[in-house]
Formats: sequence, structure tokens, C-alpha cells
Amino acid sequence: MNNIKTMLDELKLIVGAERVFSYNEQKNEGQSRNPIAIIFPGTTTEISYIMKFCYSNNLKVTVKGGGSSVNGGVLSCGSDIVLSLERLNNIIEVNKFERIVTTEAGVVTENLKNEVEKHGLSFPQNISSAGMSFIGGNIAIRSGSPKSFKYGTMANYILNLEVVLPDGQIIWTGKNVKKDSAGYNLTQLFTGSEGTLGIITKAVIKLTPLKKEWLFFIPFNSVTHMYDFINEVLVIGLNPSSIEFLDTKGFELVSNYLKDGRISINKSFCIWMEFETDFWQTDLPELEIMNRLIAKYSNNNALFAESSREKEDLWKYRNKIGEACLDYAEFVDYDFSIPFLASQHIYERIIKILDEHHFEGIIVGHIGDGNFHINVFRDKNLTQDQWKSKIERCFMIITSLIIDFGGSVPGEHGVGYLNKKYFNLSVGEKQKQLMKEIKKILDPKSILNFDKIF
Ligand SMILES: Cc1cc2nc3c(=O)[nH]c(=O)nc-3n(C[C@H](O)[C@H](O)[C@H](O)COP(=O)(O)OP(=O)(O)OC[C@H]3O[C@@H](n4cnc5c(N)ncnc54)[C@H](O)[C@@H]3O)c2cc1C
Repeated sequence: MNNIKTMLDELKLIVGAERVFSYNEQKNEGQSRNPIAIIFPGTTTEISYIMKFCYSNNLKVTVKGGGSSVNGGVLSCGSDIVLSLERLNNIIEVNKFERIVTTEAGVVTENLKNEVEKHGLSFPQNISSAGMSFIGGNIAIRSGSPKSFKYGTMANYILNLEVVLPDGQIIWTGKNVKKDSAGYNLTQLFTGSEGTLGIITKAVIKLTPLKKEWLFFIPFNSVTHMYDFINEVLVIGLNPSSIEFLDTKGFELVSNYLKDGRISINKSFCIWMEFETDFWQTDLPELEIMNRLIAKYSNNNALFAESSREKEDLWKYRNKIGEACLDYAEFVDYDFSIPFLASQHIYERIIKILDEHHFEGIIVGHIGDGNFHINVFRDKNLTQDQWKSKIERCFMIITSLIIDFGGSVPGEHGVGYLNKKYFNLSVGEKQKQLMKEIKKILDPKSILNFDKIF
């Protein structure tokens, strides 16, 4: 069945005509990257019918969650259909006794977080894009967040997934039990598969008891003081839930963007260090020892926040950096992870490489778990093509450096379409071959998220 109109009519029969938005068919004869249509199913069964239809007609499908990913993973490959999960937006059950939530994949992450908190539980991730990303997208990318330092990434909290396979079959990847040694871990296989192996339609997610959070904001006069401080915190056995970093330029940008100059960091480097206690505790046991370490390493402008208002006021300088960069100039983002012990050396080498390339940029990151983002701003003296290729050369040099020191690229933003070249360097040949074989078994016609990752 090759006729586009006939195909769209079939899809309309499955989801209803009002749920299929077609693009200009003339443009879609394989010449552009526009999809044939975007389609909004409302149930797993509809998605299964759609996939059965697409599989038997060799029609490619690109999966879309909240669309907030920064790797081009939701870009149409051209002449495909884009399948939006936004109508799968029900939180099915919060189970207080088991400490799990069962949810559809199209629930906005922040809504899930707020809902479980009403039950005295916590979804232990605070992804900065929580207001726009979907829980299914977070799982598909294996996203991280400031709290990954203590809790790991999304991968550590997924218990079971309902998935529609490329040929339309529906499976559950496991059971709703916290211990399960029955064979390979299919749940982890689909977590982070970026929509290339199947469409996640429901998820069972582990929760933790609600915690009280305490926040330090600590500027340092030098990178060495900052690393020495973090090292000592970790070596003496303190257990922060987040350790976040922003460089001087980044802090200036975000202060200007927020039009809020209340905090001055005086050309220093700053971190946010968060601790958690049980919610009934009225003070932080680590306070005294933290004050002593801060006095030893910092320049005495540290702040401590306890009330929600105070914490929000401090966190906003970290959380709004993406928006501040977008507001400042066009930029390209690069994302990597490095073992903590190599991190100071890598940080200093990267600054040098960026300087040698005369790039203006900022470095921000989850310093505790060695995951950093570099945002490089557009050089207006270069054409778009010159700038892009110069950046790519620079990022390839950085990628080689990171791999030499045992790191990984990308760190938390997924491969998608734009990070393929770095992924290619980062992952070994045999690993890649195994990944491709898994893809072939599950999607032999390569219809799902075609040209993503590989
Ligand atoms: C301002 C800002 C802040 C951000 N902060 C963070 C952060 O703190 N941590 C972090 O890790 N990332 C962050 N990101 C990146 C992005 O928000 C995350 O990668 C997020 O998890 C993507 O979710 P989404 O629902 O928007 O996915 P989408 O962008 O819609 O999709 C992402 C990928 O997953 C696939 N996919 C989506 N849903 C499904 C599904 N149900 N089944 C199978 N495949 C699917 C898509 O095909 C695509 O390849 C940020 C981005 C922005 C713009």
C-alpha cells in the first residue's frame, strides 16, 4: 500500500480523523525531513494497531514524548509518521505500601512528581525539564538529574515497562517485584533505548519516602579549592543528594537573565550541595561539619537555605541556566560523563581547548557524578557552516580526551541524531555490533526511530 492518502485513511480508522494531522503530501516524496503526518493515539491498543499497520506497510515511525530532548531524537526522518504520546497522560495508581507508581508514558514529569508527593512519597529525580518532558521520554533517554548523585539515573528506578514492539505486539518487560532474577533484564534493555526498540506506553516506577532537603550554595576562588572541598566531603563520608556546578561566565549570564543581582560570586566558581533528612527532622546533622569545611575552602560568601522559598531562590540560578543561554545567543550543547577523580584534570584541559579555539562558552554540570554540559555560543564572524564544523572538530578532540580518561559521550542527553559521531567514538566496535544485532532482532525492518543512535 504505497498511496499516502490511503495510508492516512487507514490510520484515521484506528485513532479517529481528528487525531491525524497530515503534512503537505507533495513535499513528502522522500525529498524533505517532514513527516507524512503526526498522529495522536490515546491507548496502548491503538498504538499496537498503528504499529501492526506500519510494520506491514514498511511505514517508518518516529516517537515523540514532550519533545524537550536536545539530541534531535524526535526529528522526523522524512516520509514517516510522528507518533505523539501526549494523550497517554493518566497516572494509573500510586501504591503507598509497595512504594511504586504505575503511569502512562505521556504524563508530564512534574505532574507525576507532584502527584506522588500528595501520597507522602518522592520520585527521586529533579530533571530540570520536568515541566515539559514526559516520563516516557525520561525513561527512553535514561535521563539524569541533580539527584542522580545519590539516586542514580532513571534507569535505577524503573521496575517494569509496557512496550509496544515495532511489529505491534504488546509486552511487559518484567514483574512488579523488587527482586527478579528470571533471565535477562529486558526492563533495562528498553530503558535508554531512545525509541529504537519499542514504544514505552506504561511504566512502573519505584519511589522513596518523602525527604526534607537542605541546600548550601558555596562559591570558591579556585577550581582546586572547589575540588579539594568536594573530595573532603566525600572522603569523610558525608552523603549529599546533589552536587551541582556552574562556572563564572554561566553565573553572570543567569544573573543577568533573572535580572537579579542579589548574589554576587565575585569571579569565583560555585556549587550547590544538597542534603536530605527524614521529613520530620528539624535540623541537619551535617551542618556543623559543613560549616567547618566551608570555612576551610571557600571565600566566605556561602549561603544556606532551609525554607522552600530560600531553596527555590538559590536553585533558580542553576535551573535557569538553559533558558539564560537560549536568551543570550545561539549555542551548541555537548554532554559527557567522566569518573570523578579525572574530572578536575579534564575540566582544566577542556577550558584550554575551548580557549585555543577562541570559543565563548559556559560549563555547567552535575559535578558530583562527573556529568558536565558545555554550551558553546555562536561565533558571529563565521558562517553557520564554518562555525558548525569548527565546533565539531573541537568536540571530537574533547571526545577523544574523555574516552582516554574512561568517560562516556553522551552522558545523560542520549545519542539521538546529533550525537551519533561522538557515540561512534565513545562505544567499542563489539558493543556497537551487539547493539545493532539487538535492534535487528526487535525491528528487522528498521521502521522505528530510523537513523537514530546508529
Ligand atoms: C531546559 C532543558 C532542561 C533539561 N534538563 C535535563 C536534565 O536535567 N536532565 C536530563 O537528563 N535531560 C535534560 N534535558 C533534556 C531532555 O529534557 C530529556 O532528555 C528528557 O528526558 C526528554 O524527555 P521528552 O519527553 O521531552 O522526550 P522527547 O524529546 O519527546 O524524546 C526523547 C527521545 O525518546 C524517544 N521517546 C520519547 N518518548 C518515548 C516513549 N514513550 N517510548 C519510546 N521512545 C520514546 C523519542 O523518540 C526521542 O528519541 C533538558 C532539556 C531542556 C530543554
